[in-house]
Amino acid sequence: MGSVFAAIEAGGTKFVCGIGTGPDDLETIQIPTGEPQVTLDAVIHFFRNSKRRPDAVGIGSFGPICTDRSSTLWGYITSTPKAGWRDCDLAGPLGAALGVPVGFDTDVNAAALGEAEWGAARDVKDFLYLTVGTGIGGGAVASGKLIHGMSHPEMGHIRVPHDILTDPFPGCCPFHGDCLEGLASGTAMRARWGVAGDQLPPEHPAWALEARYLALAVVNFGLTLSTRRVILGGGVMHQAHLLPIVRQEVERLLNGYVEPPELVAPALGDMAGVCGALVLARRALNYEAV
Ligand code: ZN
Repeated sequence: MGSVFAAIEAGGTKFVCGIGTGPDDLETIQIPTGEPQVTLDAVIHFFRNSKRRPDAVGIGSFGPICTDRSSTLWGYITSTPKAGWRDCDLAGPLGAALGVPVGFDTDVNAAALGEAEWGAARDVKDFLYLTVGTGIGGGAVASGKLIHGMSHPEMGHIRVPHDILTDPFPGCCPFHGDCLEGLASGTAMRARWGVAGDQLPPEHPAWALEARYLALAVVNFGLTLSTRRVILGGGVMHQAHLLPIVRQEVERLLNGYVEPPELVAPALGDMAGVCGALVLARRALNYEAV
């Protein structure tokens, strides 16, 4: 029998928890994200009541988080604007409650690992996973390794050109206003148009604007990292008509200078994060660096 892993995708609206040896036998539940203590108690309750005992736990979390193993804040969510979750220790209480090693990284880095192992990036070593949902985040794999840097990339907060004459919306990022997330997240779409993206018909001008901002981001990341493939996931990308217009806009912006990266949907769909948390757990058990 293979090792059993507990996997957690910790999101701002829900925690997806799974237990299994891999994606095929993964038993999952979703827990709404409430107060930290209440939420973590519900997560621990699920794993303790599972018929299987995990050998390790992997957590892919919303951020910013501390991924520096030498820091006393490793395993913490740090400067999040989400009420109650600032400076919240996730890895400590979960590891202690389950009595197993903990792997910890961002939700998007986890999703990238999941797609690399079982999904849309099995055949490439240079790719990017971008999620466009309530917020925007990205995980980059270069030469087969996740990029961490000083802490972890914060791709949602880059600056993209914002023409306030054609788009007078000031942006909704509490830190930067009109950064990429402030202009193009699901939260921004709702604030700009008064309704959620899934309420806007495909011919609505919202989509051309959204495609432009996402394409600007893809072009900037692609040119910086020489990324071969970009996996675009998250709730906003559930509108299947969006991906082709982002692709067109990327080609238009690059203007034949270099080959555009391939733009694809996540093969694991919304399970990419929790599947990637399985990989984080396995690496923690094997003492492998992420
Ligand atoms: Zn921002």
